[in-house]
Amino acid sequence: MSHETITCYICKKDTSEYIQLLDGYICKECEMNISTLDHDDIKYEYYNYMLKKMWHKFLISL
Ligand SMILES: [Zn+2]
Repeated sequence: MSHETITCYICKKDTSEYIQLLDGYICKECEMNISTLDHDDIKYEYYNYMLKKMWHKFLISL
């Protein structure tokens, strides 16, 4: 647990367990949810939407 604390881009929670994605961060919990949720789950749509937003922010910053 030597990581600094970041704010998750998706759920906005502060956490020291995260991965870097593009130029933002997502917490381990969201990462796990993304990989385990069914694609017809409404929450999956939300995560999908937030990931698209991250991509968009990243691409326009290039
Ligand atoms: Zn999160």
